Amino acid sequence: MSVRAQPATKQIYFFDEGNTSRDVLGGKGAGLADMTAAGLPVPPGFTIVTQASLQYYEDAKSIAKPLLDELDGAIAELERRTGKRFGDSNAPLLVSVRSGAKFSMPGMMDTILNIGLNDETVHALARLTNNERFAWDAYRRLVTMFSSTVFGIPKDAFDDVLERRKHELGVKTDPEIDAESWKKIVDEYKKIVVAHVGSGFPQDVREQVVRAIEAVFNSWNSKRAVDYRRFNRIADDLGTAVSVVQMVFGNMGDDSGTGVAFTRDPNTGERVLFGEYLRNAQGEDVVAGIRTPERILDLERSQPKIYAQFVEIAQRLERHYRDVQDLEFTVERGTLYMLQTRSAKRSAEAAVRIALDLVDEGLIDRRTAIARVDARALDQLFHARIDPAEHFDVAAKGLNASPGAATGRAVFTADDAVAWAQRGEDVVLVRVETTPDDVHGMIAARGVLTAKGGATSHAAVVARGMGKPCVAGCEALEIDRRSKRASLDGVAFGEGDWITIDGTTGNVAVGKLRLIPPPAKLPERLATLLSWADAERRLEVWANADTPEDARKARELGAQGIGLCRTEHMFMQQDRLPVVQEMILANTPEARASALARLLPFQREDFVGILEAMAGLPVTIRLLDPPLHEFLPSLETLLVETTELRITKGIDSPDYKARDAVLKRVQQMHEQNPMLGLRVCRLGILYPEIYAMQVRAIFEAACDLVQRGVDARPEVMIPGVGSVREMQITGENARRVAGEVLKERGCSISYHVGTMVELPRACIVADDLACDAEFFSFGTNDLTQTTYGFSRDDAENSFIPRYLEQRILSDDPFQVLDRRGVGSLMRTAVELGRGARKDMKIGICGEHGGEPSSVAFCDQLRLNYVSCSPYRVPIARLAAAQAALGTLE
Ligand code: PEP
Ligand code: MG
Repeated sequence: MSVRAQPATKQIYFFDEGNTSRDVLGGKGAGLADMTAAGLPVPPGFTIVTQASLQYYEDAKSIAKPLLDELDGAIAELERRTGKRFGDSNAPLLVSVRSGAKFSMPGMMDTILNIGLNDETVHALARLTNNERFAWDAYRRLVTMFSSTVFGIPKDAFDDVLERRKHELGVKTDPEIDAESWKKIVDEYKKIVVAHVGSGFPQDVREQVVRAIEAVFNSWNSKRAVDYRRFNRIADDLGTAVSVVQMVFGNMGDDSGTGVAFTRDPNTGERVLFGEYLRNAQGEDVVAGIRTPERILDLERSQPKIYAQFVEIAQRLERHYRDVQDLEFTVERGTLYMLQTRSAKRSAEAAVRIALDLVDEGLIDRRTAIARVDARALDQLFHARIDPAEHFDVAAKGLNASPGAATGRAVFTADDAVAWAQRGEDVVLVRVETTPDDVHGMIAARGVLTAKGGATSHAAVVARGMGKPCVAGCEALEIDRRSKRASLDGVAFGEGDWITIDGTTGNVAVGKLRLIPPPAKLPERLATLLSWADAERRLEVWANADTPEDARKARELGAQGIGLCRTEHMFMQQDRLPVVQEMILANTPEARASALARLLPFQREDFVGILEAMAGLPVTIRLLDPPLHEFLPSLETLLVETTELRITKGIDSPDYKARDAVLKRVQQMHEQNPMLGLRVCRLGILYPEIYAMQVRAIFEAACDLVQRGVDARPEVMIPGVGSVREMQITGENARRVAGEVLKERGCSISYHVGTMVELPRACIVADDLACDAEFFSFGTNDLTQTTYGFSRDDAENSFIPRYLEQRILSDDPFQVLDRRGVGSLMRTAVELGRGARKDMKIGICGEHGGEPSSVAFCDQLRLNYVSCSPYRVPIARLAAAQAALGTLE
């Protein structure tokens, strides 16, 4: 849903004001308000509503006076409640400024901690805490976070200073740095600020808070946030809320710390508390994966009371929200504070298990369980793995952060990942740790490998959400960013070298390993969930399959028919291609007939296999579709070959003559726009004997099977029909040949002849087509190509990425069905088609048939079925149920 920007009257709510709306307060603000209402320990604070950020963009990025006034009032109230004052040199109030959109976008937007510190208040903090070291550490964190977020100064500039200092002091970790050194570091940091912005680090604490709020507003539109929203299909006009919370400190000694925990294991869904705790640290240290933390369970030993309190709170929150929660908390000198609760991101496996378990536990019903699992994420369940036959050396081991195996060329920056992927390369992104700025690279990569960070580090959380394999915290990995080289325990590799990661085991190998596709069997829990889904859906789910193996796989995954069997792939097989080429090169009808006669047994065999695998279910066989030159060598190859033969063997040699004849034929057949040329049914009209051979093979196969007692159910589909005469001619021919075979064999098989609807004209004349076509199947790959006039072979690697970036397109129309354009044509075709032939069966077999939002649209159009690749059948089953239940639009 989109929200229009309108000035809100009340724009700030304290956590205890009773407003807990996620639309208004964002996920974080609503969670803090909810927890406050439940009496849980939450530091005091308030939330600026999401609407305010939209207003801020409308006002050309300036915070309007009414909000500033309200903010001043809220700060005054916070001062009253805490007994501290903002900028006060005795008891200074310190706050964090946190982002929080309606839908969680972990780590994508900005948060700034320790606001309120300046050259004066830092002394007060040191006095109050009796800990000078702590105060200066807090100040340097503020300078870093504020300057990088507000001024855009690269964090590296500060990190370099810190690393140099550590080296000089001969220490490895931050806690070993003493107060005096932190002071010097802060001095150096401040010089960096002056060098970059020309003025000093802001000492006015009100300016700090206002600029921090602006930075959070701005971060909604940062590249990484936009990339994340696009990937997760989150609307751009929701805006972000901003929560201002009194600081609590996890870095005040060993009885302090900070943690992130999930109420169940987000990888497996197991009902155990899962998470990490970093002693003597501030929140960003855990999320950023800067130090490798301890397990949350260790808190039980070190701080049993806090642990027990936390467990009790975690369970309460899970029951309250009826869902697994992702919690952030801080312990300040032995006191627990809750800083966040939100629905946890989880792997698909965990999502299914949790949904089932919550039904068992009586917390949700089956329909809610169906809605809880993201259909798109289901393909994670069918992970690739390393072929067990591969013998390889494990170069290093890291954390198994997100399951599945990936192999690709190593790249060391997100931009390189995108650049290599655009060239069609598979890449694995290798980083010391990922930050939200790497998201576009993670999207482009097959998998992610990091040297630092745990199971809740940025890399792990984001990769899991994307369903990408990830090995994190691989300590043996050393990277030299500048030379673009790395090593794993001494095994060196560089940019472009193949590496393989296994996010299920944590193993990393240098080299390209063979991966095997996932098993074609539904995991048990998913089978249960899908059986609930099947009871709700209207749409049937069929599959696109060209081989008996694919057909069996599809059936195993729940396909109720084959919606598209592409016959050209059969022509390409090694043993047939020479015969196919002979058929194409034939100069006389007799020569062509002879080649076709030799192809017929092959085709019959193909159809026997598929029809048998799908016994009792419809198998829609599409007659030949691509232009014939696709079966011949390319013009360039032939030119090179004939030239070579002419030179080496002479123009009278039989080899040269034969090759030259092929060249001439290819030149003759050359078309400027083969996609719009002699292909689809046009081929069947110019060469009726090809379609006749195919139809004969289909029905001979079906008769063989029926006579063996197998329930074969072939359907014949004509591709690319645009006019009624095309349908009539090809339809009549198909029926004639089918009739002949059935008569010869004395067999009776009921079948239909239908057409693909994949041209705009076909949609517009669908009523006429329906007189001859007994079913329609939308070929939305071609329909998208011809509606937009975008080449389906080129557009995605050419201008579509830019169109997406510039928001000219909101989705790639070859992946997500364009409802407005292509969808309108489909609607017309459905109405006209069913107007002429009531109860006409209509399906879709373009790539969109397995994409959830497109499936939902097909449900709205009241199609009979969607047909998709076998592994997407489970996705389509779930999406169809969600569409029927109205939870997916
Ligand atoms: C289509 O065009 O959508 C289709 C399914 O056919 P093909 O992809 O084989 O052209
Ligand atoms: Mg097509």
